[in-house]
Amino acid sequence: MSEDKKNRQVVKSQGNIGRREFMGAALGGAVASGGLLSSVKTVSAVEQTATGVYREEMRTPIVARYQVIVAGGGPGGFIAALAAARSGAKTLLIERYPFLGGNGTAGLMTCYNGFRNQRPPEALQTVKGIPAEYIGEIVRLGGVADADPYAKEFQHDVANGDIPYCVGFDPEAAKVASLNMVKKEGVELRLHSWVVGPMLDGSRVTGVIVESKSGRQAIAADIVVDATGDGDIAARAGASVVKSPAAKSDLLRMTLMYRLGGLPPDAKEGGIRIGNRVVKWGPAFSGDGTDVETLTRAEIETRLKLWEQVQKKRSQPGMGSIYLMQTATGIGVRETRHILGGYVLTVQNAIQGTRFGDVVAISSNPMEYQGKRYFFKHEGFDIPYRALVPQGVENLVLAGRCISAEQNPFWSARAMGGAMAIGHASGCAAAMAAKVNVPPRKLDVKALQKLLLSQNAELRMQKRMG
Ligand SMILES: Cc1cc2nc3c(=O)[nH]c(=O)nc-3n(C[C@H](O)[C@H](O)[C@H](O)COP(=O)(O)OP(=O)(O)OC[C@H]3O[C@@H](n4cnc5c(N)ncnc54)[C@H](O)[C@@H]3O)c2cc1C
Repeated sequence: MSEDKKNRQVVKSQGNIGRREFMGAALGGAVASGGLLSSVKTVSAVEQTATGVYREEMRTPIVARYQVIVAGGGPGGFIAALAAARSGAKTLLIERYPFLGGNGTAGLMTCYNGFRNQRPPEALQTVKGIPAEYIGEIVRLGGVADADPYAKEFQHDVANGDIPYCVGFDPEAAKVASLNMVKKEGVELRLHSWVVGPMLDGSRVTGVIVESKSGRQAIAADIVVDATGDGDIAARAGASVVKSPAAKSDLLRMTLMYRLGGLPPDAKEGGIRIGNRVVKWGPAFSGDGTDVETLTRAEIETRLKLWEQVQKKRSQPGMGSIYLMQTATGIGVRETRHILGGYVLTVQNAIQGTRFGDVVAISSNPMEYQGKRYFFKHEGFDIPYRALVPQGVENLVLAGRCISAEQNPFWSARAMGGAMAIGHASGCAAAMAAKVNVPPRKLDVKALQKLLLSQNAELRMQKRMG
């Protein structure tokens, strides 16, 4: 019997039950007794039981319109929103959490890496522009950590804008710094909101659908920036994912970050330290960070394990004062989708330090290569604009860690310094595309580079552009 026919029979047979009794059976007596459910919902509930499909019919109110919407307020996203607003676009930044910062704050990953090569040649600061201004704001707030885990072989003066490879920071200062900048730049902010999909007109993204305590709403935009880390918008708009030989089996593991409090002054605890508190890497978990059941298992397993680990540590001599002060809001997901763009960055590009005519950012962070941390022998490799523009979907720009890259270059560019530099480029591109009414794919890249240079981005192009 066809599913459809089966379905109709179930509906018919249910018709013999009294209406009130049936609704109680299908949906739970307590809910049904309110008498508010429509007959349409009754049929859908039966369909759900019979076929495993719940048919939803939705008309979603369009509540606002922007030139640029940035989905996701992590390092890539909030910098993209700042850049779009500074470039003159009416910009909305949407974030599921009640604060900005992404994995740096919610994930408690409190050291910004990749502002320059960690080893020589390291003279060039490869991430400048708006990301450097953001670090300046953290400095102004007194939010730089006392110690981070990276050796200080080279002298740099972060207080005066000379940013070292890594900046350890206080996550609460980082939350305030991003809010200060977003307010100053005139970015509109919508927190507590999940972007659940794109609004689409064929392959053209025309806005986003959000779910929040206010219900389901649509917000229209000329250009959308996908800064969700996982490429949620691009994937739901039908974009393809880069195929990488190792990508399935070898996704970088997730890790639950945590903070210990009450450290004795002489305790030798590696991590990012502020006073008697230190942020550390906790238990890890392997699996797909876009699968909710995996994420649930990961949270349960790592949180229970971490509690035990800390109790054990407390029982060590001299460590009785320590306690588990804080865990990350959610487990840190390193790697999920890399969206297929107009160019896929390759491992050879990263090793050779390929320079591209359409460079819009530079990644200098070391990468994993042949099982080791690989330090570049050059200052950094170029990120071409084409890697930020997904194939097959229009009016969408990628930011942060979901750009078009093979695994190894991704492992470099995903560092938060690089993610911010990419965000800077994405935001400028989105604003330009919206303002001149040209799809991102057809943007005048030379004009984009000029805009980025005018906002002090480092592209190693000053000489080339004259
Ligand atoms: C355990 C771990 C350790 C790391 N160590 C370091 C390190 O030491 N130094 C370093 O520089 N980098 C480190 N990284 C990498 C770095 O943190 C990330 O690659 C970087 O944060 C990526 O930035 P992003 O903006 O692309 O994404 P994210 O930081 O993931 O931000 C994405 C944002 O989008 C929001 N979001 C996601 N989906 C939606 C949605 N559908 N609707 C609304 N909002 C949404 C999220 O809440 C989040 O705020 C580490 C990562 C992990 C997981």
